[in-house]
Amino acid sequence: MNKEKIDILKKEKNTVILAHYYVDESIQKIADYVGDSFYLAQVATKLEEKNIIVAGVYFMGESVKILNPEKNIYLVNPKADCPMAHMVNINTIEEMRNKYNDLAVVCYINSTAEIKSHSDICVTSANAVKIVRKLPEKNIFFIPDGNLAKYIEKLVPEKNIIANNGFCPIHNRVSARAVNNLKMKYKDAKVLAHPECKKEVLDIADYIGSTSGIIKKVGTCNLNEFIIVTEIGIKYELLKNYPNKRFYFLDSMICEDMKLLELKDLLKTMEKGGNEVFVSEEVIEKAKKPLKRMLKLGE
Ligand code: SF4
Repeated sequence: MNKEKIDILKKEKNTVILAHYYVDESIQKIADYVGDSFYLAQVATKLEEKNIIVAGVYFMGESVKILNPEKNIYLVNPKADCPMAHMVNINTIEEMRNKYNDLAVVCYINSTAEIKSHSDICVTSANAVKIVRKLPEKNIFFIPDGNLAKYIEKLVPEKNIIANNGFCPIHNRVSARAVNNLKMKYKDAKVLAHPECKKEVLDIADYIGSTSGIIKKVGTCNLNEFIIVTEIGIKYELLKNYPNKRFYFLDSMICEDMKLLELKDLLKTMEKGGNEVFVSEEVIEKAKKPLKRMLKLGE
């Protein structure tokens, strides 16, 4: 019933729904586009609808707004925020700029609009290695995720990677021991892990990649069983695409913020409006540059 109502409202209100892989499957099912944060920001630039509902955490709404300032962007629940997005501050960035002449501030897309506006380039977990390799600067201050920074450091040894000490609480809480316990239980399963995990987990993974990368990897791999070391919401997309394969998850990998989004709130936003994302013109102008530079260098 909700689905029919939402379909009618979408037409009436000239609205499109974008959802992240980590939100509840009831929302993924009715979304027009489902993907990672980069895909959602990118796809939004190609849409005709004037109103966009972003079913994701706060920074995702901001990224869509920065790349589409002329559109109205709404969140399902503005209280859903990513803790990692706030784990670096402007002072730390400025201190680092004063310390190194030859420095690029590389900002993971999981960050606030304000932090993006003080950065030289944005990256996603899918294109970070490729982009860092291409940068002319020797010193890279990678913010806010320290685990992703250390993963890049290993693959791009020619750069001096300075890792910020932020982390995703959901990926960071996983231990190698917990993954090894699953490996012992499911002996034929391959371990696919997100680079926001700690090094000890990445060291025992068979494949490391972004959420989109993990989904693609399952599709190109002729094996049937996988231990997926990322947020459990991705299970819906995996089972939809590969119903005959089996996926095992760690029970602890639930993002409490992503789970604050409920279908009833989405319906309410569509019916009554509210929850609109506002970013100042100044921040949009400044944050657009590192995001657009990413789109160019990431090609
Ligand atoms: S899973 Fe981690 S990085 Fe993603 S929104 Fe939740 S806290 Fe942030």
